[in-house]
Amino acid sequence: MATYEYSCADHGMTEVILPMGTAPQSVDCPDCGQSAKRVYSSPMVSNVDQGRMKLIDSTKASADTPDVVSSVPRGGRINSKPTPMAPPDPRLQKLPRP
Ligand SMILES: [Zn+2]
Repeated sequence: MATYEYSCADHGMTEVILPMGTAPQSVDCPDCGQSAKRVYSSPMVSNVDQGRMKLIDSTKASADTPDVVSSVPRGGRINSKPTPMAPPDPRLQKLPRP
């Protein structure tokens, strides 16, 4: 389903939800019943966060053709610190041993 916009001369914009490709050039205005002509608007893509779009694009690109490197990137591991471990639980000492 897609949302199509129609404009009545007296009542302004009205939106109609129809299956894609089935929108007529005009519909009856829900307020007055006159013919409301179809209005073409730009798709709502401008309010997408650019950083998020970059991440989505790079994820899609690497799914088919991953970036291949021949050496370890400069700086070595991204996270050079070892993963911190949880402090030992003193209750573990009281557990029965085999
Ligand atoms: Zn109208």
